[in-house]
Amino acid sequence: MEETINIALSIYKDYQKQNLANKFVNFLIGWDSQTEAPNDCFEARGRQIEVLSTATYKLNTSPELVKAVQTLYENRTSLNEITAHEIVVVKKNIDKIIKVPMEEFVELSTLLASSQNIWAKAKVENNFELFKPTLKRIIELLKLYLSHLETPKLKGYNILLDEYEPGFTTKEYDEFFDTLKKELVPFVKKVATKALQYNHSFTNFKYPKDDQKKFAKKIMDTLCFNHNKGLMKESEHPFTTGFGTSDVRFTVHYHEDNLASAIFSAIHELGHATYEMQVDPALDVTLSGGGASLAMHESQSRFYENIIGRSPAFWKSLFPKLKEIFPKQFKSINLNDFLKHINEVKCSLIRTEADELTYPLHIMVRYDIEKALFNNEITVDELPVIWNKLMKEYLGVEVPNNKEGILQDIHWAGAAFGYFPTYALGSAYAAQIYHSMKKDLNIKEILKSSSTKEINEWLKEKIHCYGAAKYPQEILKLATKEKFKPQYYVTYLIKKYSKIYDIKW
Ligand code: ZN
Repeated sequence: MEETINIALSIYKDYQKQNLANKFVNFLIGWDSQTEAPNDCFEARGRQIEVLSTATYKLNTSPELVKAVQTLYENRTSLNEITAHEIVVVKKNIDKIIKVPMEEFVELSTLLASSQNIWAKAKVENNFELFKPTLKRIIELLKLYLSHLETPKLKGYNILLDEYEPGFTTKEYDEFFDTLKKELVPFVKKVATKALQYNHSFTNFKYPKDDQKKFAKKIMDTLCFNHNKGLMKESEHPFTTGFGTSDVRFTVHYHEDNLASAIFSAIHELGHATYEMQVDPALDVTLSGGGASLAMHESQSRFYENIIGRSPAFWKSLFPKLKEIFPKQFKSINLNDFLKHINEVKCSLIRTEADELTYPLHIMVRYDIEKALFNNEITVDELPVIWNKLMKEYLGVEVPNNKEGILQDIHWAGAAFGYFPTYALGSAYAAQIYHSMKKDLNIKEILKSSSTKEINEWLKEKIHCYGAAKYPQEILKLATKEKFKPQYYVTYLIKKYSKIYDIKW
């Protein structure tokens, strides 16, 4: 038996190496496509990517690999902990590829090749009818896809939720969003009745890109970004990518009329980048590197962006540097004006522009709709009306058109149903992690030194080092000594914003 396991293990190790090499190629192509590549290169690039994807598909489904993974899965108790976890994850993915008929897979991929363009056109033209047939077909194909993957434990929408955040189904998300509905919605309504008074003349100025870049470098220094293992560039939409722990890259986009945008997207992406860099380097040669899940990744970016990055302690040392780089714009502005500006709450229409407090309510709208769609409780035809009704109910806003309503996000056009909830969950993980961190660290004191070094170290030891070698729920429990509790998030938000808005709650 041991002989059989050893043969299977050696086949698996070969697969790991080839899979990593494929990932490396895809990482470089992706990075280049989004940062440097000239406009006309994409057709030729598409042909090469098609060949490479086919090779990856063959690699992932080769009978030899499937057999080896099955053997290792059956004998996983005799494997080391990291490999055993990895085999469970890999087997789940292989099963998926095998269970879904090839022609359905091809139809969905083909549809997705054009669906995002159709969505983009529909959005520009504010025409939901144009996107409706495509969206209907995507949902039909996804329902078909789910029918092949059902198990006694996992059915329908829960399969999608579990794909994006292992261990999370409607049971856990309902509990989470019900807490937000009950406790956060009334609080937001109260905040919305108040306005912050401050000098916001600095928002009327232009901020030259080169100066913004200088300030972005100060932020990188504060967050202790390791320039030997990573770099920053520009792209249309900010993102973070990388290969292992020694090549981590992120981008920002500078808007000359909006200084805060690049600052907070830089802190956000640096949060993702710090996570990637601080994974145990031993995992670089396995398939268990990188973040544990989407929500866990988002917890790190939002922890740095909102909990650290929008705090008075963080800006105490950085604000003078901001004034130094932008003396004209910040001439009569004090730290309090700036802090009010970056923590201002506005019940608005667009998710990506939402503030920290109202953001999860935008996600709640999407979660309710996705769940009802996959439970066959609503139809695609009804979506605009339902969207507008929920926005009114949760955020108190009237949606004037579909462009700023149901058509605003690209996700559904890419069949990414079940993805949205991870954004809100990430913020909630962050609040629970923050609660734990405060028991060990004096965060205000640490930030006085203009460096997050000790905070980074804490996160490395409690969360980052595990990479994806454990499930997110296990890591959260190890780091915070508790299972996930939505209450930490609600308490954090209400405490923070009652203070800023001077509300007794
Ligand atoms: Zn993010």
